[in-house]
Amino acid sequence: MKSFKACKCCKKEYSTEQMFIACTKYVGIQSFAPYNLFSLELRDCNCGTTLARRLPIIEQQLVLA
Ligand SMILES: [Zn+2]
Repeated sequence: MKSFKACKCCKKEYSTEQMFIACTKYVGIQSFAPYNLFSLELRDCNCGTTLARRLPIIEQQLVLA
């Protein structure tokens, strides 16, 4: 089964998006607007490595509101 995301540094695998959100620490949002319609949410792995999650448009509006 393909995992949602894996940390390149400590090799920890996050099998689902929900698990990724639950196990990482929120850092901030990196927005590319108006050049791109998506933003990246930055989250820290337990080892301190920052991982990015692409936010769907709907969710992005909720976060930025
Ligand atoms: Zn890690």
